[in-house]
Amino acid sequence: MVDRLANSEANSKRIGVVEACFGTAGQPLAIPGRVLIGEGVLTKLCRKKPKARQFFLFNDILVYGNIVIQKKKYNKQHIIPLESVTIDTVEDEGDLHNGWLIKTPTKSFAVYAATASEKTEWMSHINKCVSDLLEKSGKSPTGEHAAVWVPDSEATVCMRCQRVKFTPVNRRHHCRKCGFVVCGPCSEKKFLLPSQSSKPVRVCEFCYKQLSTGATLPSRSDSYNRQSSEISSNNLSDDDDDDDSSD
Ligand SMILES: [Zn+2]
Ligand SMILES: [Zn+2]
Repeated sequence: MVDRLANSEANSKRIGVVEACFGTAGQPLAIPGRVLIGEGVLTKLCRKKPKARQFFLFNDILVYGNIVIQKKKYNKQHIIPLESVTIDTVEDEGDLHNGWLIKTPTKSFAVYAATASEKTEWMSHINKCVSDLLEKSGKSPTGEHAAVWVPDSEATVCMRCQRVKFTPVNRRHHCRKCGFVVCGPCSEKKFLLPSQSSKPVRVCEFCYKQLSTGATLPSRSDSYNRQSSEISSNNLSDDDDDDDSSD
């Protein structure tokens, strides 16, 4: 079905419309063989809070952006090559339902669909695109993924030492290896994680020890269980201290 559509006029027209919605700040999206599989609004769990984002699934990339005017204008375009994507379901919790993780070597995050059937549809389409791409290229799936950042609001105290309470002075930091929200003293060290940056990045004390002794860590999905005891509505709007790539 995808192949049949690949060069259809209707499909290139749709891609042209998407391209136009992002305006000149976006990348050109129309390339030979590219197919727009689906599109829709998903809630992306960002560092501060969940935000609505417009997503476009193509057969080779996933594109998303901020919604300026629904169906007309989007900005802050992000393009994720699907070849390096792995997805994982997320259990429903609190107000967040129908979610899954989008994991890539450089960045990983959770998104939520409006309904369970939408979630199933997105996940199966993404998986199909990824496996088709890998089959075509003969590559194997990406092994390493960037940590999914725990949202700021889920930690009132440092998730490593459990002692330092976050305030406008004791600011939150994110370990780039485990994604935990940690205090300054628990994340003084940096470590080179080549898939994320060419420069050493902030890691917590625990991960630093693991990384520097070469021990392997449990995968992030094992530690993604939200600890409800740490959820707090007291979400201090501290300024971003780290380079927050998670918009
Ligand atoms: Zn700490
Ligand atoms: Zn860590």
